[in-house]
Amino acid sequence: MLSLTDIQPQKDEIYLDNNATTPVLPQAAQAAMHTMQLCYGNPSSSHITGIKAKYILETTRGLVRKVIGASTGEITFTSGATEGIQTAIISALQAAKEQGISQEKPLLLYGATEHKAVPETLKHWNSMLDIGGDVVAIPVDENGILDVDFIKHNSADAIIICTMAANNETGVFQDLPLLEKTIREQNEAVLWMVDCVQALGKIDLNIAETTIDYAPFSGHKLYAPKGIGVLYVREGAPYTPFIAGGGQESGLRSGTENLPGIAALQAVLALLDDPSDDTFKDHDTLLAYRKQLVDTLTEVFPDIVFNHDLSCSLPTTLNFSVRGLSSKDIMDLFDAARIRVSSGSACSSKVTGSFVLDAMGKERWQSESAIRLSFGPATKQCEIDQACKAIKQAVEALKHSCLILSDTDDNSEFAVDGLQQWVYDQQCTWCYVDKAAKECVLIDATPELVNKFERLVRCQGYQVVAVLESHHHSQQVLNTEMIRELITEHIQAAEFDELGWPLNATQVKLANGDSVPAIKVGSKVIARLPLAGHTKNSVAYLLGTASNERLAIENIEYAFTGDTIQIGGLGRTDGETADCDDLYQSIKRLAQVIAEDTLICPSHDYQTLFSTSIAMECKTNALVAGVLDGELDVASFKSQKADLDKQLPESDYHNFCGSVNLSQNNIGHLAANQLAEFMEKHPNATLVDVREPHEFEAYPDAYVAGTKMVNIPLSQITNFVNLQRDSKSVEAFICICRSGNRSDAAAKTLKRNGFVNVYHVPGGFALLD
Ligand code: PLP
Repeated sequence: MLSLTDIQPQKDEIYLDNNATTPVLPQAAQAAMHTMQLCYGNPSSSHITGIKAKYILETTRGLVRKVIGASTGEITFTSGATEGIQTAIISALQAAKEQGISQEKPLLLYGATEHKAVPETLKHWNSMLDIGGDVVAIPVDENGILDVDFIKHNSADAIIICTMAANNETGVFQDLPLLEKTIREQNEAVLWMVDCVQALGKIDLNIAETTIDYAPFSGHKLYAPKGIGVLYVREGAPYTPFIAGGGQESGLRSGTENLPGIAALQAVLALLDDPSDDTFKDHDTLLAYRKQLVDTLTEVFPDIVFNHDLSCSLPTTLNFSVRGLSSKDIMDLFDAARIRVSSGSACSSKVTGSFVLDAMGKERWQSESAIRLSFGPATKQCEIDQACKAIKQAVEALKHSCLILSDTDDNSEFAVDGLQQWVYDQQCTWCYVDKAAKECVLIDATPELVNKFERLVRCQGYQVVAVLESHHHSQQVLNTEMIRELITEHIQAAEFDELGWPLNATQVKLANGDSVPAIKVGSKVIARLPLAGHTKNSVAYLLGTASNERLAIENIEYAFTGDTIQIGGLGRTDGETADCDDLYQSIKRLAQVIAEDTLICPSHDYQTLFSTSIAMECKTNALVAGVLDGELDVASFKSQKADLDKQLPESDYHNFCGSVNLSQNNIGHLAANQLAEFMEKHPNATLVDVREPHEFEAYPDAYVAGTKMVNIPLSQITNFVNLQRDSKSVEAFICICRSGNRSDAAAKTLKRNGFVNVYHVPGGFALLD
């Protein structure tokens, strides 16, 4: 295990994720340390040590009152905003219950872009307290501004209304006086909570002059440590303690107070309140920072779209999307370049969007590729300068990867050679490139990745031999034609069939004696093998080296089987033109013409396994094994396959093709702090950085002392498996990536493909330096 002091910020780290949490100001850290070491008393103790502690507690409370403008009402220290939100919501709902709920269906209203802590807490306590209300989102317009007409029409039936002062994803702030007027004209008594977490230190809040009933705040969003928060409660507003016990905080919130956190908060608020101190920047300075960042981003990403109206947003938050780049692309690049930002959508294999941008009615691509960049009110000019410089540098790497176009650069030096797999929402697009011949072919393109292909082709000046589909469902849009239109000047043949197959193909002979059509891609050929079953028109594309118009088994490197043969599964055969007899024959036919270990590249990858082979399928896929070893006749195959199809969910798009679970292979783990020593002891071991090339290039100084390091992006792992067939047992491969997820997947894939000495580094580069 790494020791605590080994875990440090990376050198040159640029932190632009202040809306998630801020760094702790040195003054705040010192205050916390001082309190822990010297003022360790319990504020409830009546001796002098306790009295000193109490003094810190009460002076901080006084300062909170001053900074948020709360001369009246209660100020309670909490563990953070989530606790404040619980307390406010429980208080309001409990009061409604005690007073008797007059509405038949009371409304619990919240802004549609509210932090998840709000709707989830409303739902939870609505159910726990048996309120029986409807938890309803107040819509927002395209700028994220709450719909006041909706509030006007629904306030009368509401028992609580939850809104926010400023949004954490976009920085959009609400017109609180207008909201107050709208709410109070309709309902004097409704309890109103305003989440002020992102507003503190950035917007003036004269809270006691408003009719806001509850306002939660959080210390770690404003340079204090995690674990300290504040809840303001208006004088006379109902209150139910969320935490009962020893009666601290006048019985409003039991539990010994977090005095170091409270002292740290005091240090922060004292700076904020001191006009002679320049730690916190004025509004104009923050606006100038934002402009500088906007200018830089617009220069490097000509296709950038800002997802919010800057005129109604905090100066410290920018939320943007770049057409053609997923949030994962940018996040991974920036993280490698040591720039920390965050994405609206979770970076998992399932593509998700940002619910905030969805609520604002932004286009799907904007929501799926959103990046949030947030600095803080204490950010310094030099940090913004450094950030702009680092962004410019990082984006150069994207140009080399052809993820964004550049007119001036010759990127051929960076061009890939061989097979790449691009995954979007568990669907695989395969792109084979012959670098020397500058030719490529695209197989089973996912519409979302079409622009990526277009950019690659233009950027590298490739000739596109064909854009192929392995099959086609009648209800699906035909992609091939649309893609060809995008790249007409780069496409070779003139006429194609519905799967994109060029009509000027020649013929090659396969091992089973069949002659099939084939086209050339650089020094290789792609032959087309009929593979009906999943659909009538299903085919496999076999890529290999032909000699004397023959494509021998041992010369086939990849078989692209679409949905027919999948990793641990077979394409479903309960669809429109599916035929189980055909599938049975197709499996046999494929096995006659490719080797047991030829890499099979399907058009789905549900478990990040990349590819499979006949040998691997025979181990885990009983139906394939049964067909090939002769145990299953057509009739039994059909009945077993029908049973399997019945277990698959209704044929929605994602699960359309079915898969089964596979057990994963065990691989060796190499702790980050043992890596250097391991590499020294094993000079022939290869450290395989499986990040994408632009990440590899983004911070050129990154290295692991004295190691033989190669960059094999995860998208080229199948290519690597193919090329390294002969090193499977001789070399040791240690996979590494940003956080350990991709290296885990890569190492498992190598192991599954028969590589013997395979390790991965959990925690990856994040724990390395
Ligand atoms: N509300 C908003 C707007 C936030 O941004 C956050 C944190 O991200 C919270 C509430 C929850 O705050 P805490 O982490 O203090 O519980």
